[in-house]
Amino acid sequence: MILGCIADDFTGATDLANTLTRRGMHTVQTIGIPGGEAPAADAVVVALKSRTIPAAEAVAQSLAACRWLRANGARQIFFKYCSTFDSTDEGNIGPVADALLDELGADFTIACPAFPENGRTIYLGHLFVGGDLLSDSSMRNHPLTPMRDASLVRVLGRQSKHKVGLVPYRTVKQGAPAIAAAFEALRAEGIRHAIVDAVEDRDLENIGAASSALPLITGGSGAAIGLPQNYRTTRLIPKREGASPLAKVGGPGIVLSGSCSAATLAQVEHFAATHPAIAIDPRALADDEEATLAGLLGWVEDKLKRGPALIYASAPHEKVAEVQAQYGREKAGAMIEHAIARLARALAARGVRRFVIAGGETSGAVVSALKVDALEIGPQIAPGVPACLSFGSPRYALALKSGNFGGPGFFREALEALP
Ligand code: ADP
Repeated sequence: MILGCIADDFTGATDLANTLTRRGMHTVQTIGIPGGEAPAADAVVVALKSRTIPAAEAVAQSLAACRWLRANGARQIFFKYCSTFDSTDEGNIGPVADALLDELGADFTIACPAFPENGRTIYLGHLFVGGDLLSDSSMRNHPLTPMRDASLVRVLGRQSKHKVGLVPYRTVKQGAPAIAAAFEALRAEGIRHAIVDAVEDRDLENIGAASSALPLITGGSGAAIGLPQNYRTTRLIPKREGASPLAKVGGPGIVLSGSCSAATLAQVEHFAATHPAIAIDPRALADDEEATLAGLLGWVEDKLKRGPALIYASAPHEKVAEVQAQYGREKAGAMIEHAIARLARALAARGVRRFVIAGGETSGAVVSALKVDALEIGPQIAPGVPACLSFGSPRYALALKSGNFGGPGFFREALEALP
């Protein structure tokens, strides 16, 4: 293993594994810290579900993953979080990054969530989602991590015990040596975390080259774009093609959606126009989970005989706010994740092996319920979303989609792309 990665959610982990695979690193994603031996791979991405748990727990899990990765040979550690910097003032990006720096005996890292291919760019430390500041984007109403400040220097500053600085675009555009010099200057000033501006992939390639000697890199999958080239230059990995096709799984395919992000809402509407689709009613779930799930399963079993179907909890912000007001934000989220996980398990027991899951937290819940412990990464379906195949038995074909990824036709595209 050369690169050891810790991802704070499951779809984020596949996004990063997809980037590394496409750029020629043989990458395996594990679900949590593996019990046994490390998989034979250039890069291992340990997927945690630590984005919204209490900060102390996120720190403990991330440190355990870091220790395991290093014990298995990782020379560089990558902490992956969302390209929309999903977090709250309590954490978890700052506390985890601080703890990883201490663990690695390092005094400087970068924080770069830019993902230009998906419209996430950073200019003067401000994160843009498409043409909007993060704080004006649909992320301002995220059910768990509403993002209402676009200045990442400020956002991370509230989470970290250290000083946060900026490598501005005028430096980034000068290339890797200038970026590396800026890192040194900031480090000398006592700054431990530098937000790094990036607006296109070329910037990320240069940032990657400038980060070759950093023990820790933090960011979105974009911050990893330049790393495989570093390892080729130093002959740690050979030149390789991207992803290979996955072994065939076959059988009916189901879409389970627990994401309320804008892109997902459009995907639900688009798919439901031409396919069977049913909504999960959170109130019915709270009143009688057994009966509600039995009803949904009865409905879907019949539909799956004829083709793919969709079960979704996804709802617009106003409806989510009502449900949260009634049950509490975390309780509502956990209740729905639990229900979708149980549906997945029941469908798997009925022989379903092909799953498209929308939502980071939701994917985490489903993958745990299916007892998947590692994933092989296949060809890309949409930027940031590869087709995956679980190891072990039975093998599941999975598309794990982060809320705001994919175009309106994503669900059908994913069902077609899954082996
Ligand atoms: P994303 O990737 O879009 O952030 P996640 O699955 O990570 O999606 O998070 C969405 C959260 O919203 C989950 O905890 C999910 O259970 C919760 N949720 C889904 N539908 C509803 C709803 N109708 N009301 C309240 N919460 C919901």
